[in-house]
Amino acid sequence: MGPPERARVRFSDCSDGDLAAGAPGVDRRRQRLVDLPWTWLRQVHGREVVVVDHPGAHAGATADGAVTSVTGAALAVQVGDCAPVAVFGASAVGVAHAGWRGLVAGIVPAVVEAVRRLTPGPLQAVIGPCVRPPCYAFGPDELDQVASAVGDTVRARTSAGAPALDLAAGVRAALAGAGVDRCDDVAICTVCSPRHWSHRRDGSVARQSLVAWMAP
Ligand SMILES: [Zn+2]
Repeated sequence: MGPPERARVRFSDCSDGDLAAGAPGVDRRRQRLVDLPWTWLRQVHGREVVVVDHPGAHAGATADGAVTSVTGAALAVQVGDCAPVAVFGASAVGVAHAGWRGLVAGIVPAVVEAVRRLTPGPLQAVIGPCVRPPCYAFGPDELDQVASAVGDTVRARTSAGAPALDLAAGVRAALAGAGVDRCDDVAICTVCSPRHWSHRRDGSVARQSLVAWMAP
């Protein structure tokens, strides 16, 4: 089952090139991926969400989420290991950049609430490629912080048995807490996948994108 019929969600990979904000030539690669005006964000691991009321509005804003009910407005977040999350309903979409700091800050419920203000009916979500527990050793103090924000479901182990963060489980818990029960997950680990950029794997500053928009 896919998204409601007008919502579109696209995840890029390495074959689409570096979509990091400010990368040389990034505008051309954005348009090749999705040929619409983009609202991309200067992400700071916070909970700010921009409401896009015309295509391209708030491009370059300092925020970690964007929502719209306007046809043809591409909303994008760019990620290297953090989770890209799309939330969509009958007549609106939203995107979130969710790393562990964003989870603690509450970016997921902030985007869900902003989408809900734009559309009636139930919401769905999808989690894109991100670092997964086997590859995400995590300090016990930070793990406690994330667990106190979204629950013990985030407590996991690496393949070597060390404490790890299950970021996707945390996103799923935050979505459920905000009333989004249906959540798909592409189940790709950026560290393991040769088709994805990963800062944790090799220090790369290149990024893949999640792009979501409403089709006519
Ligand atoms: Zn992995």
